[in-house]
Formats: sequence, structure tokens, C-alpha cells
Amino acid sequence: MRATNERGKMKIEKEQLQKNILTLQETIQNLAKEDQDVRVVAVSKYVDVETIKMIYDLGIRDFGENRSQELLAKQAELSDEYSDIKWHFIGRLQRRPVKKMINYIDYLHSLDRMSLVKEVDKRADKVISSFLQVNISGEENKAGFSLSEVEAVIEEIAFYPNIKIIGLMTMAPYEADKQELQQIFSALKDKQLLVQAENYEHAPCSHLSMGMSRDYPIAIQAGADFLRIGRALYEEN
Ligand SMILES: *Cc1c(COP(=O)(O)O)cnc(C)c1O
Repeated sequence: MRATNERGKMKIEKEQLQKNILTLQETIQNLAKEDQDVRVVAVSKYVDVETIKMIYDLGIRDFGENRSQELLAKQAELSDEYSDIKWHFIGRLQRRPVKKMINYIDYLHSLDRMSLVKEVDKRADKVISSFLQVNISGEENKAGFSLSEVEAVIEEIAFYPNIKIIGLMTMAPYEADKQELQQIFSALKDKQLLVQAENYEHAPCSHLSMGMSRDYPIAIQAGADFLRIGRALYEEN
């Protein structure tokens, strides 16, 4: 059984965090190409503010949450000395909380439908650095645009000035094997290069948000530069 506190959040020792971060950094160093600047987004939805502070003290500045209320509450508790944290929203975003949250985040990883594009554009007071979420394997229960509609969607997003497409994002199916993962991540890389080659002002599309705890080494090899890592930071492995 995994230890949790009274709020249901995982409890974790600093030594364990330090060990896991080191392993992660070694893997990145071994697998990333020379010009591939890989950023670890610590997915903090599993932990409370005390653990975020420990991770921060270990040098990480990017944190990802998938619930808007929780992101805002944690951010409010972490003001002042933690003000250089970059906040990433990584999950399914409903329309209603957009207004309250959108101006408090630095990156949106889950721009997954046109109605969300419109709502974010309408509520944002600044340009929101966003990843277009792509559902590569076509799983019905997964959010995101299909690979074949990416170009058309990006052209349409030019009409929404508060949205900047800095890259593409995907989540691989849970049951995918190594070969399928390689195919999925390479397909996203190929698409990212195609869009980038268009030199759109509103869509530089130079980044790839892919790779989670179970598949990040494969994602790095396929060119990922934003990893969204949760359990691999917290669990003994
Ligand atoms: C929770 C979550 C992650 C992190 O998953 P782990 O398997 O714990 O690394 C990454 N991306 C999204 C969108 C998530 O919701």
C-alpha cells in the first residue's frame, strides 16, 4: 500500500524524490540528442504543496496539474519565493473553469477541441502558449484532434489571436507496447516538423509534449522536449 495523507495525497521522503529525479536526469542525459533541451514537468496532482516545495528545492521549476481549482489553490499557497514556478495545465479542461484559471497558467498542454480554442481565446488577457493535443491512435475515449486534421485546425487557429501553438502533445494508450509507442511518438514528431516548416507566426510549433512515467525514454528518443512525469518521481522503482 502506498502512503497517503489525510487529503489522499501521496506522502514521500525527500531522499526518494532526489533519487528519482537523478534517475530521470540520467536517462535524459543518456537519450537526448545534443540540441534536444528536455524539460521535466513535474506532475503534482498526486501530491500536496509540501511535496511541491521539496521538488522545487531539488531544482525543478515546472509543475503540471489537471484540475483548475487545485492548480489555483496550490499556486496561491506558493506565492513569493516560489514565484518563478511555471504552471502547466495538462488535463481535460472543461469550458466553465477557463475564465477563472486561464490567465494564471504559463502553458496549456491540452487544447483538444475547437470549442475550447474559442473559450480560451475569449477569456485570455494574454497570449496563451499552448500545445495542440493529438489523439494519434484514434481511441474513442481519448481527447484530441486526429492526426489528419492538425494542419487545418492550426490554420483556423490563426483567427484566435490569444492562442499561440508552441507545439503538439499526445498521450499514448496505456496498453501500447514499445513498438507502438515508437510509432505513435514518431508520428507526432513528423507532424510537428511539417507544421513548423510552414513558419506560421501564430504556430511556431517547435515543441513536443509527450512521455509520461511509463514511456518517457521512448518519447525522448523520438524527440520529446516536454516530459509530463508523475509517478516516476514519487514511487520507489
Ligand atoms: C497524470 C498525468 C500525467 C502523468 O502521468 P504519470 O503516469 O504519473 O507520469 C501526464 N499527463 C497527463 C495528461 C496526466 O493527466
